[in-house]
Amino acid sequence: MPDADHYPLWHPFTQMARFEREPRLVVARAEGNRLIDASGAEYVDGVASLWANVHGHGHPHIVDAIREQAARLQHSTLLGITHEPAIELGRRLLPHFPGRSRVFFSENGASAVEVALKMALQYQANRGQPERRRIVALDMAYHGDTLGAVGVGGAGPFRDVYAPFLFEPLRFPNAYRYRCARCAAAPACTDACVNALRDLLEARGGEVAAVIVEPRVQGAGGIIVAPEGHLAAIRALCDEFGVLLIADEVATGFGKTGAMFACDLEGVTPDIAVAGKGITGGYLPLSATVATEEVYRAFLGGEERKLFHGHTYAGNPICCAAALASLDLFETTDVLARGRARAALLGELLAERVAPHPLVGEVRRQGLMTGVELVADRETRAPPPPEREAGWRVCLAARERGVFIRPLGDVVVLMPPLSIEEDEVERIVEAVVHGLDRIARG
Ligand code: PMP
Repeated sequence: MPDADHYPLWHPFTQMARFEREPRLVVARAEGNRLIDASGAEYVDGVASLWANVHGHGHPHIVDAIREQAARLQHSTLLGITHEPAIELGRRLLPHFPGRSRVFFSENGASAVEVALKMALQYQANRGQPERRRIVALDMAYHGDTLGAVGVGGAGPFRDVYAPFLFEPLRFPNAYRYRCARCAAAPACTDACVNALRDLLEARGGEVAAVIVEPRVQGAGGIIVAPEGHLAAIRALCDEFGVLLIADEVATGFGKTGAMFACDLEGVTPDIAVAGKGITGGYLPLSATVATEEVYRAFLGGEERKLFHGHTYAGNPICCAAALASLDLFETTDVLARGRARAALLGELLAERVAPHPLVGEVRRQGLMTGVELVADRETRAPPPPEREAGWRVCLAARERGVFIRPLGDVVVLMPPLSIEEDEVERIVEAVVHGLDRIARG
């Protein structure tokens, strides 16, 4: 039997051996863009509570909406019956997804990706093309941690251990210019990765149900920002070869890239879009898979044609109420423009203070989504030795300056809420510089 001091939790994506020996940040409450621990110490929420928070914590409009909905209807299923908050949210979301007309709710990003994959595969089967059973995915992709989503995700320990149990996508290279074998040394991107997709679809397009991408920014792969036009070129190839395009906007959605959705940056309409994280302003778990009428219609008919998927809490009314309140804020305040202005400031400060640092190989940014890639040597671009745990140590040191951030390997990620204040942006950048200096000293 565990004793009273026994720590009861096993944390997600966390090496517990490390967690148990490091100082523990216990968040007691949050206000605005700050997390506050039990002793009252404040930390700027530099990763928006895992890329989700949009308007800051405790926004009264969202909190009131949650409270009011909780008093009226806490939960009722969407399996075969319906409720007003979900209907209203579907209506209010669709204008943000031009060309699409049906919203399927789940509770988290990974599930919504699973839905998108199943929709694509079953769509092809239902319209008489069951041979289209392959998914095409980008190298270094991340689409969530359930097995279907891991299947289309990139390689690494995260995937390899489950490899025998996963379906194998066809892959094409991602636009990782800094480490691209084809164009890292070239003056401009050579489009080699898009051309590789063309070759792949020319050879095997008839087997393909869909191409799935994180549009413009691959998040968990290391905030890898594709050049302008990359997404539109993928869309054009999908059209040419008659395959669906799935845009996973779980990380990029709700203003993080500067636009409401990354697809808007290039006027691209995917056949299926996936949204999560910021959909409720980052307050409650909800996600959506949004499809065109053409995809939807392929599922009409006999029982065997319906989509065989649905979670208990899909489209929970309290979550929908939070999402509606968050949309109110997008529609009635200048949150998007504010986020863009703060992103520009973040870019300036990073260029001035972080990019020149000897431990920094590249600063990548699209809107507020920022990655600072650490290197051992700027000339050779050699990564820091893994035992140095450089990314992790920079982030840990940032806490001494009252900033909470989390790395992805050697990439220090910054992704504050859109509501971040100017002085908080400064504080984040100062904390990163402090962390870098600390690591540089050894
Ligand atoms: N897709 C993308 C692009 C993501 O970044 C994430 C989460 N980081 C997911 C899917 C999975 O979302 P969730 O953690 O809510 O399952």
